[in-house]
Amino acid sequence: MALEKKRLSINSEGPFFVDSSCIYCGSCWQIDPKHFASNKNTAYVYDQPNGKKEIEKAFLALLDCPVSAIGAPKELTLDCSFNAFPIHVTTHSAGEVYYCGWSSKHSFGASSWLILNPKGNVLIDSPRWSSPLAKRIVDMGGVRQMILTHRDDVADHGKWAKALKCERWIHKYDLDAAPEVEKQITGTDELQLRDNLKLIPTPGHTKGSIVIVLGAQKQILFSGDHLWWNLAKQVLVASKDYCWWNWDEQLKSVKRLLELDVSWLLPGHGYAKQFKEGEWKAAIKQTLQYAEANYKKIE
Ligand code: SF4
Repeated sequence: MALEKKRLSINSEGPFFVDSSCIYCGSCWQIDPKHFASNKNTAYVYDQPNGKKEIEKAFLALLDCPVSAIGAPKELTLDCSFNAFPIHVTTHSAGEVYYCGWSSKHSFGASSWLILNPKGNVLIDSPRWSSPLAKRIVDMGGVRQMILTHRDDVADHGKWAKALKCERWIHKYDLDAAPEVEKQITGTDELQLRDNLKLIPTPGHTKGSIVIVLGAQKQILFSGDHLWWNLAKQVLVASKDYCWWNWDEQLKSVKRLLELDVSWLLPGHGYAKQFKEGEWKAAIKQTLQYAEANYKKIE
């Protein structure tokens, strides 16, 4: 619970605040950019929500915060729902996609995603365990498969698997982070998990990183920490600073995604991004050109 006595002085005056326990994960300013922002190594409230709708939006950020660093008086948020997550992101012919919220500190506030599909719903990465979210997901049909993009974002996968009785997937090389997981993908070949859902190994950020592709056209790419969108610079980011295994391999893995037809990028960290036709390829090429100019030639 956020504490008024730890309230950061940088917050705008008013009921909502961020306290000094913020871990700078970025979830709040991504979900509610109108009221939360980044400053050096912390988030803060730069404008107070005004009216019911805005308070509800700021309350989403409060629920999502992995370390409960966002506070607001109880009487102000009495009408706000704990059942607001998951929230709808987009509709694809291969499934409805939702953002789960309830980020976990064990995955440094990484995003997790839910795909609704008549053949069984799919959870991408693990949110923090939350009874309200679990109830909502069960009401939406439960989960048949949980896919873990890499070792950092496994969070409360065990609790979710037990509650939802779903089968879990992870790459063999990251299995030691979640040894109870039932299914493994191995090597670097793509795995067509279902008609419209494939897993692509993208080693680099970790040795066992994978991305998930929904649909055959105008695809939705769940990229884990392999790639994300930088809103300020308007570029697709593969980060050398946050590469924990092998940067050269990560760049090869980025190149591997050039031929996809991505309409939405939904990452673990950083901003999501919607692409118009042709923009994906251009964005990947720009990222590779930057890496080639600043680091080394990509084979
Ligand atoms: S969601 Fe919480 S931990 Fe993450 S940046 Fe915002 S206040 Fe900080």
